[in-house]
Amino acid sequence: MSTFQAPKGTYDLLPPRSATFLAVREAISGPLRNSGYGYVETPGFENVELFSRGVGESTDIVSKEMYTLTTKGGDQLALRPEGTASVLRAALQGNLHKAGLLPVKLWYSGSYYRYERQQAGRYRHFSQVGAEAIGSEDPALDAELIILADQAYRTLGLRNFRVLLNSLGDKECRPVYREALQTFLRGLDLDAETVRRAEINPLRVLDDKREEVQKQLVGAPMLRDYLCDACKAYHEEVRALVTAAGVAFEDDEKLVRGLDYYTRTTFEFVHDGLGSQSAVGGGGRYDGLSEMIGGPSLPSVGWALGVDRTVLALEAEGVTLDIPAATSVFGVALGEEARRVLFGKVTELRRAGIAADFAFGGKGLKGAMKDANRSGARFAAVLGERDLAEGVVQLKDMQSGEQGPVALTDLVDVLRSRLA
Ligand code: AMP
Repeated sequence: MSTFQAPKGTYDLLPPRSATFLAVREAISGPLRNSGYGYVETPGFENVELFSRGVGESTDIVSKEMYTLTTKGGDQLALRPEGTASVLRAALQGNLHKAGLLPVKLWYSGSYYRYERQQAGRYRHFSQVGAEAIGSEDPALDAELIILADQAYRTLGLRNFRVLLNSLGDKECRPVYREALQTFLRGLDLDAETVRRAEINPLRVLDDKREEVQKQLVGAPMLRDYLCDACKAYHEEVRALVTAAGVAFEDDEKLVRGLDYYTRTTFEFVHDGLGSQSAVGGGGRYDGLSEMIGGPSLPSVGWALGVDRTVLALEAEGVTLDIPAATSVFGVALGEEARRVLFGKVTELRRAGIAADFAFGGKGLKGAMKDANRSGARFAAVLGERDLAEGVVQLKDMQSGEQGPVALTDLVDVLRSRLA
């Protein structure tokens, strides 16, 4: 072991488990790539203000969990704690939002950083795949995103997840509700920190998991009763479209999410096998965010699904993904000249698009065949000195154990057809 360990709250992705992470990223992004979403990649850090203005000063993410730094040039930067603000910034900066091109549909995959208290399923460095549909107020987009996330989870074989759905209203009706909720909260017996939160962001108090708080919230005014007609109609349309797609969801009036930018639709995907960190993904509509970061009005909707927790959910359900062996052919050579020739053949196979690996390190036949086995390759190509003299290579089918000579010059063609 080296002197160094991965920093607290982080972990390394190593084979073979890392293959599952790749497959999860692939499975989540597949439905997006198939639905008109283009790939976007943004820097791992941004100006701190993008997040404090976008995500919100009052949120835990910004006030407690952000990794901030001052560069030698004096810039205040933050490691990105989430994807939406960066992607919207990039779309605005790149002028993707010209009239006639809306909505701009983008997907991304990357690392995010939050200085959180470490526990199972909660890390300081984690990985998300996300999607944003920017610049249209269309309930079908909200529905599309919920349906695509459901499809991704189902493709992976997950079953024990639920979709929670809510509407947070808009700039017309939410302030009225906020006022009513605040008045209600002022009459409760809450600790100083919660009283402070009630003043800055009263909706977050609804999300408080502590029983002594939840007990007092019985009878609190509910947003549902304050939604304006436009928000109500919008929400009903989202619900109808999701229902028509056969995706079951639960109405959850307390779902407010931990970011300030959400308006109208909010949703979360929770998995029942994960204990307290049960959210595997979440998202919603953020009609005001563009203006909050200095852009034009661009009503938008998006989600981010956590890759780490999706892998934990798969493990909790005992689902193992069918990940094909990375290597199809494994070359084993005995003797210097055979080694040179077979290494050349392996290169040829690779250039022909056949996944091939080679016994490195000058091992003997036994050790090299062990490597071949471990690689999961379908075929081992064994070249000894006598084979070389005869211009053949012994091709062994690792599944059936059958073995026979193939002319060296035919190796690529034979393997191509036998692997087809
Ligand atoms: P959020 O936008 O905070 O709801 O995050 C979206 C998803 O990212 C969550 O549902 C989690 O799956 C994942 N996620 C967020 N924070 C963490 C974390 N600290 N560790 C692992 N996964 C996380």
